[in-house]
Amino acid sequence: MIRILQSKARIGPALLVGLALLSCVRSPKEIRRVELLMGTEVDIIAQGKSEPALQAAADRAFAEIERLEQKLSRYREDSAISRINQQAGIAPVAVDAETFMLVQKSLEVCRESSGAFDITILPALLIWKIDAKNPQPPADAEVKEKLKLTGCEKMVLDREQKTVFLPEPGMGIDLGGIAKGYAADCAVKILKDNGVSAGIVKAGGDMRVFGGEGKGLAIGIQNPRASGKVLAKIYLKDGAVSTSGDYERFYIFNGVRYSHIINPKTGYPVSGEASVTVKAQSGIESDAWSTALFVLGHERGLEVLKTRPGLEAFFIEPSGESHSSQWFRENLIAVSGD
Ligand code: ADP
Ligand code: MG
Repeated sequence: MIRILQSKARIGPALLVGLALLSCVRSPKEIRRVELLMGTEVDIIAQGKSEPALQAAADRAFAEIERLEQKLSRYREDSAISRINQQAGIAPVAVDAETFMLVQKSLEVCRESSGAFDITILPALLIWKIDAKNPQPPADAEVKEKLKLTGCEKMVLDREQKTVFLPEPGMGIDLGGIAKGYAADCAVKILKDNGVSAGIVKAGGDMRVFGGEGKGLAIGIQNPRASGKVLAKIYLKDGAVSTSGDYERFYIFNGVRYSHIINPKTGYPVSGEASVTVKAQSGIESDAWSTALFVLGHERGLEVLKTRPGLEAFFIEPSGESHSSQWFRENLIAVSGD
């Protein structure tokens, strides 16, 4: 989880805000709002000329995120994603351009990450019952069985007809690793179109910042093994930051930690890293790649990043040891004693 630092006022349990980045705007008005959407806390901070206009802009931004949740959530039976899943092994499903773009982008990141980011992971994800009350890991044989139903190359996409087909019964897709970052991008666009001069949209571990001045906004990177403690910070004026980690949705069984990000090569929850924070230009990139790099781990991940300018990452291992790409090496500020 990412925390926004430097606050006089606390809004919501995980968000501390100080708008040093906005201080150059002349007599700006500022609003802060929090809503529960996409299964997480969505925070919007917006600054501009008039408070009623900011409230109206935030209303529209939240409505935008709700629109995306309705379309993209696999938990909603009538979403575009659920329609695709319901027709697995039966028929291609025609979807709107936005859903098609997200599936296509997910396939692209799947290829670019050698299959580490894979939205067809759903059958193998579900058997780990991460959100159940007293979950237990599945048997090895079940993992092997479900893994046969995964693989992004199995998806059949028709660009002309904008259809998505999952060719085998039991297949399913889940945009949980990319949708919140994309939603933050869309919400920022709405805020900008509605006269907001600077702001933040944070959806769980995915955050977009825009319009910053000076040094920018201080963003805290949480210690993955000490709830609520920040171990480092960065400053950002414009861009996206996402964190994927094993410390928010997980369970421990017989002393072993099982988290919600699955290695598509094995069908087992990833165990090499405790968290990965990614900086990128857009939320769609930072979100998808934080999940991908969490799976790849720091060694392979840092290799991949060498060929991807604009993407930067900071890895923290369960032992506490950390590894940074160049930008983080130069810009990360250690925070002690928080
Ligand atoms: P969060 O949703 O907690 O912000 P992430 O962005 O890293 O964290 O996404 C994790 C979610 O992505 C999981 O809850 C699951 O829905 C989905 N997922 C799990 N493993 C993978 C994977 N290997 N590739 C793509 N998506 C995955
Ligand atoms: Mg992600």
